[in-house]
Formats: sequence, C-alpha cells, structure tokens
Amino acid sequence: MLNIQGQATALAHTQRVIHSGRLASTWIFAGPAGVGKFHTALEMAKTGLCDQPAHRPNRHNGQLFNALLEPEFELTLPCGQCDSCKAVEFRNHPDLHLVSRELIRYHDRSGKSKGTTLSIQVIRGEIIGDDSPEHRVEPKIYKRSQRGRGKWFIIDDADLMEIPAQNALLKTLEEPPPQNYIILITTSPTELLSTIRSRAQFVQFRDLSFSVMVPELVQRGVNDTQAKLLARLSGGSLGRAIAFMEATIAPERDEPAKSGARSTAPDQNAFPHWINAISTVLDNMLSGREGGMALATLIQKSAEQYAKAMLKRDPLASKDRAVRDGVGLMLSFVAAWFDDRLRHATGAAIIAPLPSQAHAMPPAAAQECIALCRQAEMQADMNAHIGVLLAATGTAIEHTMRKGQ
Ligand SMILES: [Zn+2]
Repeated sequence: MLNIQGQATALAHTQRVIHSGRLASTWIFAGPAGVGKFHTALEMAKTGLCDQPAHRPNRHNGQLFNALLEPEFELTLPCGQCDSCKAVEFRNHPDLHLVSRELIRYHDRSGKSKGTTLSIQVIRGEIIGDDSPEHRVEPKIYKRSQRGRGKWFIIDDADLMEIPAQNALLKTLEEPPPQNYIILITTSPTELLSTIRSRAQFVQFRDLSFSVMVPELVQRGVNDTQAKLLARLSGGSLGRAIAFMEATIAPERDEPAKSGARSTAPDQNAFPHWINAISTVLDNMLSGREGGMALATLIQKSAEQYAKAMLKRDPLASKDRAVRDGVGLMLSFVAAWFDDRLRHATGAAIIAPLPSQAHAMPPAAAQECIALCRQAEMQADMNAHIGVLLAATGTAIEHTMRKGQ
C-alpha cells in the first residue's frame, strides 16, 4: 500500500478508517483514470484478507511514509507473505470478487451486448444472485467467507452500472451482510445513484503531479523530455501515460520482464510519430493549407493504429473500446497543441511543448478549440459514431481557427 504514489490524502484517509476498526461496508474510490484507485482497492482487500497484517509506525528511519499522518500513527499493512496475500496478488483469493467490463459479455443472455454497460445480470451473477426460477444464481455476497476474514467485492468502472443494476445493488447496500465490503471505483461518481453515494465512504483520488509521474515513466524506459510530454498529454493519469507508451513499443518485442528488470525500452522513434503528424496538420490548418477533414482522417487512422497495438498486447480487449481510447488520446494531443498556442499568446510558460512551427493564435479561438476537443473526447468515450464525431469536430475546429484570424 505504501508503493502507491501521489495519493497521500486518499491513503491517509483509508489508513485512518482501517485503524479505527470501523470499516465501512461500502466505499467509493473516485478520481481520474489511471491514478491508482484500483491498485489501492486491491491493497485494501489484501489488508482485510491478510492472515497476519503488519503494524508499523508511520515514522521509519527518520522519514514519514505518509506526510499527512502523525509520526506515531500505526499503519496497517498486508504482510505480503501469507497464503491470502499471495492469493490476492494472483487474483484468485476465494473471498475476493472483481467485477469489471470483461464480465459483461459473460453475463449477456441476449448476446447483443456491446460490452459497454454493466447490466443487472452482471450484478446478480457476480454479487447479489438471482432467484428467478429460470436463471437461478447463488448470491455470492450471502455465501460464507471461505477463509473466515470476510469478503471483498471490487466493482471497476462502477459508473457503467445501468440504473436497474444500481437499484438492485442498493438493496444489498442498505442491509449488507456483516464482514462484506464493496468498493465502487469510478471516474464519474455523479453517475452513481445519490442513494448509493450517501451510504458509502467516499475517497477522492487526484491527478498525479509531474514530480510523481516523470520518474515513474523514466524508470519504464523513456527519456526525460518524452516523460514530461507524456505526463502532460495524459492529464495526470499514469495509467494512460503507460498505455500510450506501451502502444508505441514495437509489437514484436517480448512480454515485459518481471518488475525492476525491464530489458526492452520503448521504440524512441515510434513514440513521437503521432504527435508530430498531428502538430503538422494543425500547423497547416492554421496557415490555411489543410482543412478539418485532414485532421479527422489523421485522428481516425492514428487511433486505429493505437488500437491495433493495444490489441496485440491484450487480444481479449474490445477493439471498439481501444479505438475510442485512441481517439481520446489523439484529441488530447490536439488540445495540447491549442494550449501551446494559447500560452504563446498570453506569455505563459510551456512545459514540454509539442513540436510546431506555428506561434500564437487568438486566445479566444484557441480556448474554443480546446473546449471542442474536450467535448469530443467525452463523446468518443460514450457511444458516439467515431467517423461522424471526428468529421464534425474537425470541421468545427477549422471553422473556429479561420474565424479567429
Ligand atoms: Zn498476509
């Protein structure tokens, strides 16, 4: 739990609750994607299920593990050695239940699911059970804890739960069987019913700072300049930065070596390829040499390359999802290019600028273009038709750039 970087507030919060011995049965871990929510949830479950949790003072060798807790505060940590800890690490502890997107299709009876929302079937199948005569499923949550230390349910992307799924879960949250803990992980807590939110212990996770992200990325094999650019473009999400880094690694390389011994570095030439291409098209658009459709086509093509690289690494991942993630990433490059222009215009400092021949453009137009990118990123993440969305966004950006000149 101590190796989760940049989330001192969230960790201090969870440590205080664990220490008090009054562990809430429902938790919401909210915050941006890729900042350590899932990892922290897993560590909490590991602590709860550990046969011999370790207790250590916060002060160690004159330093504090967590600056927000008192020096004498006693941290509760999983031992990391016992059978339970090992089983959690291998994700096969009988009292740990992970609910994620990957299970959507498994529970889909109609066979029509696009794999984008968690239906009531998933929640019934994985947590609360189903007593209808035709699909009887045992409720995992009412079964006995197999190793006697309670049971943990972690629902990733909990905001994807459809309303009937949330309502069904709510009934269980209202009267949870003792020693059952449910952690809902979400980037958008407002998508959860207020009745669920009011019953949960809320833990807020934050964007990671440059000072946390850059060394983490350098350790994974990029140089300092690239690490800064990645940190900036991923908006404080280490998960996103790593995904981007991995997508640019030559696909024929071996699987990453075990922690610490990373023998292969990302292909340093493949890395800036998309960023250069997008910057060039935007430069051309600013000087009137290219239009919005060129941008739309480039984003789509690059997103498909990104998806292809991601699917090579994880053949079970959804292609549609990977393309949407790729589109989101490319749009974040576009937004960063406009952010550079805005900074040029206002004289603000630019950390890790994108390569570009262009300088300032009118601040109002740059801001409007950034807003267009953000809006398109959100729609790409939902179910918008990618081709239509990109064509509309490219055209709107072109129009806004012209208007501002
Ligand atoms: Zn243990």
